[in-house]
Amino acid sequence: MAIATTSPVTGEVLRRFDELTPEELEDKLARAAAAAASYRLTSVEQRAEWLHHAADRLEKEVESVSAMITTEMGKTFRAAEEEVAKCVRGLRFYATEGPAFLRDLEGDGGGVGAKQTFVTYQPIGAVLAVMPWNLPLWQAMRFAAPALMAGNVGLLKHASNVPQCAMYLEELFRDAGFPDDVFQTLLISAGRVEQVLRDPRVAAATLTGSEPAGRSVATIAGDEIKKVVLELGGSDPFIVMPSTNLERATDVAVKARCLNNGQSCINGKRFFVHEDIGDAFIEMFVAKMGALVVGDPMDEGTDVGPLATESGRQDVESYVDDAVAKGATVLLGGERPDGPGWFYPPTVLTGITPEMRMYHEEVFGPVAQVWTVASLEEALREANGHPYGLGSNLWSEDEAERELFVRDVQSGMAFINGNTTSYPEIPFGGVKRSGYGRELSDLGMREFMNAKTVWIG
Ligand code: NDP
Repeated sequence: MAIATTSPVTGEVLRRFDELTPEELEDKLARAAAAAASYRLTSVEQRAEWLHHAADRLEKEVESVSAMITTEMGKTFRAAEEEVAKCVRGLRFYATEGPAFLRDLEGDGGGVGAKQTFVTYQPIGAVLAVMPWNLPLWQAMRFAAPALMAGNVGLLKHASNVPQCAMYLEELFRDAGFPDDVFQTLLISAGRVEQVLRDPRVAAATLTGSEPAGRSVATIAGDEIKKVVLELGGSDPFIVMPSTNLERATDVAVKARCLNNGQSCINGKRFFVHEDIGDAFIEMFVAKMGALVVGDPMDEGTDVGPLATESGRQDVESYVDDAVAKGATVLLGGERPDGPGWFYPPTVLTGITPEMRMYHEEVFGPVAQVWTVASLEEALREANGHPYGLGSNLWSEDEAERELFVRDVQSGMAFINGNTTSYPEIPFGGVKRSGYGRELSDLGMREFMNAKTVWIG
C-alpha cells in the first residue's frame, strides 16, 4: 500500500509520502541503537517529566490533532477528541505511576542461601511497534508511553494510511524533551518489517492488527528468538440477560457496535440475547441503530463516518453479501449507499449460521449479528466457539450469572454492565487467536523489560 493520506469521505489522495530509502532506514536503526545505549541510563524522574511535557502539548493541540485523525481515517471528530484525551491520560498515568512499577521487587534471601535477593526491572533496548490505523494515536501511544517510561527506545511502523499521525508522534516526543532518536517513525511498507525485526539492533516487537500480519511478525520473531506481543482481531460477544435494564443495555449495545465507525477490535460484534427479552431487545436495538446519523465525520451531528479504506468497505460488504446469500435476515442496512467515500450503514443481521464467513471471522464495520438464546450456558457455548477471545460483555443483575460468566468466558477481558474499553490503568489483551501478552497497566510495561534476578550472598 502506498504511504499516503487518502480522504475516506471523498476517496481523494490528499498527500503522498516517500518511503525511507535503504540508507535512511539504516541510519535510523543506527540512531536507535545509539539512543538505546544512553537513554536506558536516564532517571525515571526525568522520563516522567518528559512524558508530562508530551501530555501538556497534546492537550493544547487537541483540536488540530483530532482533525488530523479524522482526515486520515474517517472517525468522527468527537471520537477523535476522545482518543486524544485518552492519550493525554495514558501519558500522565505512566508519568505518575511508572516510577512505582519500576521499583525493585524484594525477595526473601534466606530461603535460597542469600543475604538478599531482589528482582530489578531493566529496559531491553529498541522495540518495534507495528500499528494499525483504527486508533492511530492511541494504539501507538499505549505502546509508546510505557516503553519510554521503562527506558526503552521506540521504532514505529505505522499503517500506511495514517502517515501524518505517525510523523506527529515522532515530533511530539522530540519536542517534549526526549533525546533525539528515542522515538522514531519509520515510513516503510509492511514488506520491510522483516528486515527491521531481524536486525540485531531491534530487541522485540509489538503488533496490533490482523491475524495474517500477526502470524508473519510472530513467525519472524520466533525465528529470531525475540519477544513479541500480539493484539489481533476480536469478535466480542455481548450477552444480555432478562434481569438487565434494556434501555441502558441497548444504548450501550449500539455504542459497542458502532464506536470508531465499527472498526475496533473490542467492538461488541455478536449479540446473544435471552429469548425472554429477545423481541424487545431487537426492536429497541434496531430502532437505535437506525437512528444513527451517517455522514461527514467533521459534522457535529454525525454518529458514524465512513470506513477508513476502500478495501475495508469491500471486506465488510462481502461478509454481509455472503451471509445474505446463505440465508441471513437483514433487519437494518446491508446495502452501501451511492456516492463518493467509503460509507457503510449500521446493519443488523439475524439467522447467522456456521456456513457463513462472519460466523468465524471479524467484520470490521458497523454490522451487528443478533442471536436469541435459551440460557447463559448456551450464550457462553456460542461465544466460546469462536476462534477469537479478546473482550466480552455481560448485562445482568444476577450474581450467579456474573460468576459463571467471569469463570467460563474465554476472553482476555470480561466487562459486566458497561462497555468494553481500554483504560491505561488496567491490562488489555486477548487469548486464543486474538493474540498474547498484555498492554497497559504495570503488566503492559513489564512485557518489554528484563526482570533481572539479583542474589547477594
Ligand atoms: P493489517 O494487519 O494489514 O495492518 C496493521 C499493521 O500491520 C499496518 O501497520 C500494516 O502495514 C502492518 N502489516 C500488514 N501486513 C503485515 C505483515 N505481513 N508483516 C508486518 N506488518 C504488516 O490490517 P488492515 O489494515 O489490512 O485490516 C485488515 C483487518 O485486520 C481488519 O478488517 C480487521 O479485521 C483487522 N484489524 C484489526 C485491528 C485491531 O485493532 N486489532 C486493527 C486493524 C485491523 P501497512 O498499512 O503498510 O500494510
